[in-house]
Amino acid sequence: MSAIRRPLKSLGQNFLVDGNIIDRIIETAAIQPDQSVLEIGPGRGALTTRLAEQAGQLVLIEFDHALASWHRDQHLSNSSVTVVDADVLKVDLEVLLPDVAQKWNVVANLPYNISTEVLFRLYGVHTRLARMTLMLQKEVGDRLVAPPDCSAYGVTTVLLGLWFDISRAFIVHPGSFHPSPKVDSVVLNFIPRSEARADVGDEEIFRAVVKSAFSMRRKTLYNCLKSAEFAKQVDCRELLEACAIDGRRRGETLSLEEFALLSRWVTDAVRAGSNG
Ligand code: SAM
Repeated sequence: MSAIRRPLKSLGQNFLVDGNIIDRIIETAAIQPDQSVLEIGPGRGALTTRLAEQAGQLVLIEFDHALASWHRDQHLSNSSVTVVDADVLKVDLEVLLPDVAQKWNVVANLPYNISTEVLFRLYGVHTRLARMTLMLQKEVGDRLVAPPDCSAYGVTTVLLGLWFDISRAFIVHPGSFHPSPKVDSVVLNFIPRSEARADVGDEEIFRAVVKSAFSMRRKTLYNCLKSAEFAKQVDCRELLEACAIDGRRRGETLSLEEFALLSRWVTDAVRAGSNG
């Protein structure tokens, strides 16, 4: 690469330099012949060359203008590679990932400072995706695969778990990057489900219920729920009683099915309120 600049901390630039890990990520991504692939943050191209060899079409989105223009030069003669010089948090993913017959495969070693936000944006286009192989800070990854009633279990676990089957592929140690981050990383597999794991009624209400249940981790579920916006339309004691859930529990003890039950009840109550 010409004009190598120092990695930018502000853009989470910890570049992969370990060939073994690169091989394992490519294997885990299991790209199908002719599949469309999105790589977020290709950086210095550790994964990109291999992705370009395997994908039917490859879209790269890179916020570092110098790196984006370097990728453009690299792939000038390959019309199946498109480089988008932009912030992944600002682009319209519905436009970037058009509805193609064979769904998209997303591969990324995500910049850690924005990984949760990126996850929620990808969640918004889950119907367009066949698979995602994402490297995250281990602590963030642990939250996504945590069972109920442990400190790692939280909003991201429940919300992403509704539409994705998430599993841990392998751990990556700091020495596999340049510069080395201070913490371990993890590669996770996300397989979008054709149906949600549970019937939650209105998904916006589901998000509100889950977020409110985790809003004050030391408080009881009842106290958390009653501070939510929807509590203006719903009696939270009645809600908990109808769902046979003890309001003295903490939000983190609820299973996805219990959140779904609460959400369905709130959905029905809100709809009945606005109809009557
Ligand atoms: N894929 C490369 C690798 O594995 O070596 C680089 C990974 S590095 C952890 C994260 C990459 O994301 C960097 O290239 C960085 O410039 C890019 N990036 C950071 N913020 C971004 C954003 N908001 N939108 C798109 N790319 C971003």
